Amino acid sequence: MTTKPSCLYCGHCGGEGPTSDAHQGCRQRLAMEPPRFCPQCSRRMKVQVTPWGWTGECSRHGSLGS
Ligand SMILES: [Zn+2]
Ligand SMILES: [Zn+2]
Repeated sequence: MTTKPSCLYCGHCGGEGPTSDAHQGCRQRLAMEPPRFCPQCSRRMKVQVTPWGWTGECSRHGSLGS
């Protein structure tokens, strides 16, 4: 079985199917600002903006970086 650790949820609004047209605006926002939701479980992440980008921390999946 092949599983790819891809984005299941929109990092901006936490909704499903981040590649759908409904999230087109979200993707544009995500190009400018850090995501607020974990792309793997849609939990709210603890996001910190750093001088070199951002880091998000999911309580289940650990930290994600830009
Ligand atoms: Zn979205
Ligand atoms: Zn997560």
